[in-house]
Amino acid sequence: MTKEQEAISSAPSETVATPAESAVTPSCTCTSSDTEIPDEAQTPTLLEARSTPRVGHHPVDRLSIHKAATINYNQPVFKELAANLAIQRREILWKAQTLLSREKQKTLGVRRRRGVLDGRAVAVAKQLHKDKLLNDREFNELFPDWHWASSGESLYVLVECNQEAAQLLYDAGLDDVDDVDELGYSPLSLLEIPNKATSAHGRYQTESPPDALATYLSMCEWFKAKGASLNRVSGLTHATPLHHIAGRIGRYLGGSMEERCKSFGSRGPATISRRFANDCADIIKPLSSSILRDIWKDMEHHDLYACPCALGGCLAFNVLINETIKRHRSPTVVSLMAVVLVKKLIDASVPAETRAQQDVRAPIVLRACTFACLGLAHSCRSSSLHRFRRMSGEERRRASDATMDGLVAEFEAKYLELKLPLWDFFTEWWLGRMYELLG
Ligand SMILES: [Zn+2]
Repeated sequence: MTKEQEAISSAPSETVATPAESAVTPSCTCTSSDTEIPDEAQTPTLLEARSTPRVGHHPVDRLSIHKAATINYNQPVFKELAANLAIQRREILWKAQTLLSREKQKTLGVRRRRGVLDGRAVAVAKQLHKDKLLNDREFNELFPDWHWASSGESLYVLVECNQEAAQLLYDAGLDDVDDVDELGYSPLSLLEIPNKATSAHGRYQTESPPDALATYLSMCEWFKAKGASLNRVSGLTHATPLHHIAGRIGRYLGGSMEERCKSFGSRGPATISRRFANDCADIIKPLSSSILRDIWKDMEHHDLYACPCALGGCLAFNVLINETIKRHRSPTVVSLMAVVLVKKLIDASVPAETRAQQDVRAPIVLRACTFACLGLAHSCRSSSLHRFRRMSGEERRRASDATMDGLVAEFEAKYLELKLPLWDFFTEWWLGRMYELLG
């Protein structure tokens, strides 16, 4: 039996009073006055004075929660754990709203807040402990790893792509799935595609890479359906969760393609392209998610990286296409991957895209493919050498490369003149021009 299972099995099954009920509990004489904060001797403790399961007597740290949601996942056990965690955090909120001054409540963001605290619970508990409203034993039992910077992250970060575990947290009352950490990152913006190292056991499993990507996309959709923002800007570079997701999908597609290219050996790019065209159905198969539509349609949220691969910063679509093609320089391979990807995105569009709407994205694809074939180094998030460059807030100018800018301008003009579908333009014009240029 694991530590957390012991903790849960020994916890009484009685239910906790709601904060509203607790406010009139005779054992608590506290008020929400700004000045009348009771001293420690008069203050009922969470673990001793109130009718709650004694979860605090069995410290459960974040690593244990993470394991319980992933490699040791067991649905009934995690359900109990989620219920107890929700009780802990509801109690912390109740105590803060009852005992801390209004000013402190406002600073901590708990004033008039309802429900359950998630990532913010540890900061609130630290304040309660500092004000001697939580004693040392209570504080360390409730948050045994309070000294780690990650203790302020949402519990949803710990469940990774285990959607069932996330739903159990949600059903237990932890219904803010978009709780951000101190740097502004939400659980969705930290979500990774699962791998066998963390999901090989229990019921939370992924059998193959496409299965892992499908699990990831499904989890992204779950967060979105529960109210998580895809476009919340965070950090110095104004990255959004959608940029992050696009990067993970692109990395998966590019990695899958790289594996296939290796297996094709020394065959020429034309052979590789034909083989890829035959195999791409497998690679692209999991991409039937509405998240793809969101990436394709967002023309608004540019990040602040300065890189010649994108005009005025990268959209999530820039990130997706860059990450997919950045390992390749063959015009045949690069254009085929881009065309297949774009076709998939257009097919996923509802309602169907008009030619005019597609033409807005065509320059992005032409620029990304030209950049990849010229072998230029990224200075955006697709950089592999950490040579990031951030645009200054006022200038908002992009980094430029004269050769590429001239070429892209030529391609854009020709694309508008010929009025061919993008994939026909690549094969009938772009490919010939790129090979001519590259010798
Ligand atoms: Zn770039």
